[in-house]
Amino acid sequence: MKIEKEMICIVCPNGCKLEVTYEESITVKNALCPKGVQYARDELINPVRNLTSTVKVLEGVLPLVSVRGNKPVPKDKVSEIVRFLKTLEIKAPVEFQQIIYKDILNTGVDIIATRRVEKK
Ligand code: SF4
Repeated sequence: MKIEKEMICIVCPNGCKLEVTYEESITVKNALCPKGVQYARDELINPVRNLTSTVKVLEGVLPLVSVRGNKPVPKDKVSEIVRFLKTLEIKAPVEFQQIIYKDILNTGVDIIATRRVEKK
């Protein structure tokens, strides 16, 4: 089965409009550099996204702490992870780069705080 797909490379601000064909092998046209070819291959085979969100903080000087994954998560898990993070509550103080949740939804990705939140 032949698959033809257009995608915008999001690796850099150039935003190359890639034409991707997948039959026995993957062919990528219109990429200005090899990163675009790799991006298209990853998008077809194993798409991932960097994840950022917030988690509720109890007794903190701020009600929320911003968090991120320590590595990209599978694209099809992003919504589920964000929904799960909205159910979490963590007690202040929260330290910068504190692990908020290990191996979130069995993805192998740890969720870490991107700032400090002191206790009230
Ligand atoms: S193909 Fe290369 S130049 Fe084009 S958007 Fe992707 S990274 Fe940037």
